[in-house]
Amino acid sequence: DYSLPLPERPRVFTVANQKGGVGKTTTTVNLAAALARGGARVLVIDLDPQGNASTALGVDHRAETPSVYDVLVNEEPIESVMQRSPESPLLYCVPATIDLAGAEIELVSLVARETRLRNALDAFLSSAEPAFSYVLIDCPPSLGLLTVNAFVAAREVLIPIQCEYYALEGLSQLLNNIQLIERHLNPDLTMSTILLTMFDGRTNLANQVAQEVREHFPKETLDALIPRSVRISEAPSYGQSVISYDTNSPGSVSYLEAAAEIARRGEHRRGENR
Ligand code: ADP
Ligand code: MG
Repeated sequence: DYSLPLPERPRVFTVANQKGGVGKTTTTVNLAAALARGGARVLVIDLDPQGNASTALGVDHRAETPSVYDVLVNEEPIESVMQRSPESPLLYCVPATIDLAGAEIELVSLVARETRLRNALDAFLSSAEPAFSYVLIDCPPSLGLLTVNAFVAAREVLIPIQCEYYALEGLSQLLNNIQLIERHLNPDLTMSTILLTMFDGRTNLANQVAQEVREHFPKETLDALIPRSVRISEAPSYGQSVISYDTNSPGSVSYLEAAAEIARRGEHRRGENR
């Protein structure tokens, strides 16, 4: 039995790290699946033109499929482009198609270019029935306008950190950018959560990185730690999360633990102690 407390109002997370291959998409998909398994209604917004989150959630994202591109550029409502994932009746995805690769440039000349996702999401969340408890936005590995839209639409940032050499490189740039967004575009934004991923406890390096991150970010870093696991990397090719692909595997258990921690801690509000 795995049931989680639901938040009073929807929690919107941006999963960000400008490095590629650190586990953003894997974390988005598996946390979303875990939260849905715990009884929450969850929306994943795929904001990476690669469409890896869409693939992993088993939703159609061939060219011409209505997608997040239409939300950003054509002001299509979210409910008209989202699809239910075969993963769970509580899990939905706004897919990304290859069109999105051009959106970064098209957005530049549009009005309200930084707030387009936020406007669409606010409209969606205030009318969705039944209500959604979580929105997870999967970002591309860059700090361009797509990622800015994600930061403006969210209240919480979740940073996956790969437990390897150079893990912390680039982190201060990311935190600076989050601070800039907070100052100028979204005063509600907080970096609330860090998740250590691809952890290999047999290496000293991984242990050192994990320890260093916990020292710098004791409140934000989740106790749950995602191990490096072949089952995690295999699951997307079956259009499944690791949680349905191999429920009892260590990778699945660790994502279930991480989701439970996020749900139990609740939303961190500015100025509040945890
Ligand atoms: P990002 O979205 O940050 O680019 P991904 O989530 O796509 O990163 O992960 C990069 C690669 O690492 C993918 O091939 C993925 O399957 C693999 N991967 C992610 N997390 C793990 C893990 N815990 N164990 C093993 N492989 C992983
Ligand atoms: Mg990705």
